[in-house]
Amino acid sequence: MQFNTRYSTLSPKLYHHQLPSPLKGAKAGHFNAALAEQLEWSDKDKAQWVEICSGQKTFEEFEPLAMVYAGHQFGQWAGQLGDGRGLLIAQILNKQGQTIDLHLKGAGSTPYSRMGDGRAVLRSVVREYLAGHALNSLGVASSNAVGFTSSEQGVQREKLELGAMMLRTSDCHIRLGHFEWINQYQGDLLPEFTQKCIEWHYPECLDTEQPILAFATQVIQRTAVMISHWQLVGFAHGVMNTDNLNITGSTLDFGPYGFMERFRPNWINNHSDYQGRYTYQQQPSIGHWNLWQWLNNLVPLCPANYDKEQWKDDLAQCLEHYEPTFLEHYKMGLSQKMGLPSFHKDSFDCAMIFLRILQSEQLDYTLSFIRLQNHEYEAIKDDCLDRRAFEGFLAQYESIREHQDIITLDAEMEKANPHYILRNHMAQKAIELAERNDFSEVERLFTLLSQPYLKQPELETTEDLGPLPSDVPEVMVSCSS
Ligand code: AMP
Ligand code: MG
Repeated sequence: MQFNTRYSTLSPKLYHHQLPSPLKGAKAGHFNAALAEQLEWSDKDKAQWVEICSGQKTFEEFEPLAMVYAGHQFGQWAGQLGDGRGLLIAQILNKQGQTIDLHLKGAGSTPYSRMGDGRAVLRSVVREYLAGHALNSLGVASSNAVGFTSSEQGVQREKLELGAMMLRTSDCHIRLGHFEWINQYQGDLLPEFTQKCIEWHYPECLDTEQPILAFATQVIQRTAVMISHWQLVGFAHGVMNTDNLNITGSTLDFGPYGFMERFRPNWINNHSDYQGRYTYQQQPSIGHWNLWQWLNNLVPLCPANYDKEQWKDDLAQCLEHYEPTFLEHYKMGLSQKMGLPSFHKDSFDCAMIFLRILQSEQLDYTLSFIRLQNHEYEAIKDDCLDRRAFEGFLAQYESIREHQDIITLDAEMEKANPHYILRNHMAQKAIELAERNDFSEVERLFTLLSQPYLKQPELETTEDLGPLPSDVPEVMVSCSS
């Protein structure tokens, strides 16, 4: 492991050094050997993964720390937050020389825990572990994890559950909320902090005339791309607060997230989000809202030779890149999923008609695209009450595809339409077994979700392929974690 201890070169006002506090009776959960390999873990570290992923062993080269940040939660200013139950335990280089954070979640209380116990429960750890892996394998920028451990220690949530820890990896744990904290409480740190963010994460911006504007534009564009990918795979993050979005546009902090099954754009997995702020269909506009909040924190960075009003306008102008970037990536990806040429003037409308059918017929998002890809048009139609609407769609669809290079379009579809996503009931089954110390289902799902675009008949079960029948009650996802 090669270390790059860069976060602790920042002002100590931005973090608190402390060690993890291990749980009683820590035991192996699951280890992502391929990721450890990517991160160049030595054989000795690999052999000690349980100790590392349970906070019993830390590294001499890095003094663990909890970061402070702030945030807007559910649209309201929440003031100071921070790593209340996680510690940055190392920053290391991967095979490509990129710096990756190792963050141990559930490592005990910190000065930023507020009323919380500093712990994470096995249920939420399994959910985050599998979801990070699923998104990475789907090609969506996201945190991941080297491994997780369970324990014998009870942790109180709605009921008593088992405590667990997960060693999360991310290219960045600097959240939009970091800027909010600094601007609110330690404004003098803002110039240097921003400079470091640019050097570490967007060095190409240093060569531009206005690095801060170039940086802002990059953050905005990367966030737009990430959210377009969420929409395409049907992922609903669930808690898009400004403290849960980072500055590199990679998915972070999974709470009551979910993958869309039956297509319901106003679907939400977070049952405590009564106003439906973070529904699937709201994600693009919430991303915009969060970035607008974030940009406000760059206002004090107006260069000396710059007119203040002009600076504000130029910052606001950066946000004008958000929507076109989102639409470009979303439309391109949707055409690919549909097997339609992205340059054809009717492709997007035709895709929207398909989505409206999925919505009104309550068809499964993932399975319907797979059926389209397999030309199983009759199977989709058989599931429709309004068969004529589907026939109308199909006529338009086939007329666009006529005279096109179908072989290439179909090959593109195979790269864009997963056979497997992490359905709530799949995660739930893995959790129930894990709680009885059986991690075989975690292992099976881990393998299945490693190659979501590859049909794996030997490994799949019927339940992996579609929603549970409508008379089976839905898995209720608790927002406590
Ligand atoms: P989240 O919405 O899960 O990202 O959490 C929001 C804030 O609450 C973050 O600052 C977390 O560190 C903190 N937090 C969440 N759960 C706990 C817990 N059990 N103990 C301490 N802090 C927590
Ligand atoms: Mg969070």
